Amino acid sequence: MVVPLSEGSYTVDITKKFIPFDPSIDSIKERPGSLLVDIVPFLIKTTDELIVIDPGLGLEHSVGSFTIHENINRAGYSYGDVTLVLLSHLHKDHAGGICYPYHDSFRLMFPEAKYFCQKKEMEHAITMANSPSIQIEKLEFIRNTTNLEYMNGNGILKPGIFYEISGGHTQFHQVFTIVVDRQSYFFGGDVLPQPKQLQMRYIAKYDYDGTASAAKRIEYGKRAAETNGICLFFHSSQMPGAKIKMDQDDRFLLENAALSEDLIQNL
Ligand SMILES: [Zn+2]
Repeated sequence: MVVPLSEGSYTVDITKKFIPFDPSIDSIKERPGSLLVDIVPFLIKTTDELIVIDPGLGLEHSVGSFTIHENINRAGYSYGDVTLVLLSHLHKDHAGGICYPYHDSFRLMFPEAKYFCQKKEMEHAITMANSPSIQIEKLEFIRNTTNLEYMNGNGILKPGIFYEISGGHTQFHQVFTIVVDRQSYFFGGDVLPQPKQLQMRYIAKYDYDGTASAAKRIEYGKRAAETNGICLFFHSSQMPGAKIKMDQDDRFLLENAALSEDLIQNL
């Protein structure tokens, strides 16, 4: 079972502030220099684990009530059931939901889970205290919990859960392949955040290494096509999952993949 856990749509500009965007009343033209992005963490149930991939912003929609917890409830689970949290990288739109402010400190969003990130990604992120893309206090907090565990390079976390460093978006950005009921799901994080990065090949200026990122997503798209895999897109609630095919001219064809349950919501 794979469930998108949408936190809604936002615009983001060079200040890296995520400003809620409601397409029924807001216009992108009124926000020049902004990118429109959806935020879509994923919940994946395997035989042994309940996994959250990239817990998102950690949106609190009313006091003490978090959108990601409610979305998990709607999928039939509780936040306390989550056993693994996988982090592609530590920018705040992906990792803001690792924990939330509580009195003078923080509390883990998923207290029963093991959280996994690349060791070098953390080592680099904590040197970035002044970056508007990083919430340094949250990273400092989780580093001091026993819930956090590190990966070093590429490997297999558990049977059917694979991780590999992509680089590109951040130096140690990683991607995941998870096999559920013999279907493989590929999560490319911010190296492959939306369907359009396969449909139109381009180099993005928000990447650490845009050329490397562009090459990697072509590689991953081809791999998905060859293995009949489903790509999961963190920044697309229109098409959070897609089957990939290639035509004779080496162009990618994307077909919306039905995920278990459509929990996209308009906040
Ligand atoms: Zn990012």
